Amino acid sequence: MARNKFGLARKIPAEVEQLVRKSCGFGCVICGAIPYEYDHLEIEFHEAKVHDPDDIVLLCDTHHRMKGSKLLSVDAIKRARKTRASENSEFRFKLPATSRDFEVNWAGNIISASDNSIVVDNAPILSFVRTDNELEPLLISGQFRNRYGQVVCDISDNCFTSRAEHLGDFTLLNNRFRYSLPGGPMGLAFDLSDRGIDIKYAYHVKDDVHVFAQGDLLQVGNLFTSSKFRASRFYDVKHGIVVESCTPNFVYDGVDLNKFPANEMIGAQCSRTYAGVYIERLQRYRISSNYDRL
Ligand SMILES: [Zn+2]
Repeated sequence: MARNKFGLARKIPAEVEQLVRKSCGFGCVICGAIPYEYDHLEIEFHEAKVHDPDDIVLLCDTHHRMKGSKLLSVDAIKRARKTRASENSEFRFKLPATSRDFEVNWAGNIISASDNSIVVDNAPILSFVRTDNELEPLLISGQFRNRYGQVVCDISDNCFTSRAEHLGDFTLLNNRFRYSLPGGPMGLAFDLSDRGIDIKYAYHVKDDVHVFAQGDLLQVGNLFTSSKFRASRFYDVKHGIVVESCTPNFVYDGVDLNKFPANEMIGAQCSRTYAGVYIERLQRYRISSNYDRL
């Protein structure tokens, strides 16, 4: 049924969904889990005249079933929503299983590193631990920051956790994850599968280190040295790219990364080495010896 007896379409308008996501802290209003569904709280859809954001909540499958069988009362859900709406609520989701040959695609640049994809001041954005567990041969951990240096996504053994406070919005559609910052600009976008993570947009800042991915460009560097990669490939390396900061508390807001003097690496290939590219604190830049330009 596309419309109910009052002519209300089943599809909740996008702007109402966004309000609901925010009020529920971007995850199940009870436990913070993803995936979730939109649930009409008191007035069931067939009796509703409008899609009222105050009467819609996010519920995971478990808590949706508990509500259906009256194990979870409407009052309890409303109380939980008050807590969830507080700015520091967390939501989380788990990557079901990961294959051993997991690849990280940074805007068209493939990094298959054995230990870490990109390391910023000793902290990997994505790091990998191989296990003997057949179901989870690879465990992913790490941390994504935003352009203000705030951690927007914390990953621990394939479990992704985000704090709502730094997010304007967060959506999950199938395996497509999209974060936006308060005010609307894109914060982080990636598609996940058991074979890899496909990073469509990232602007990870820590002090004066930037890791920027968009379109076909991956740009990594600090205030003194920056490198632009396109269609490049790092494989059989321990660390993909290692970068260190030079200037603490540097603020990138309003800085045009395009104007940074940068090395251009197009179609570069790098393999069988410790770190593909190493951008050091002291204005030094080193490309591993197993590096070719095609
Ligand atoms: Zn739940």
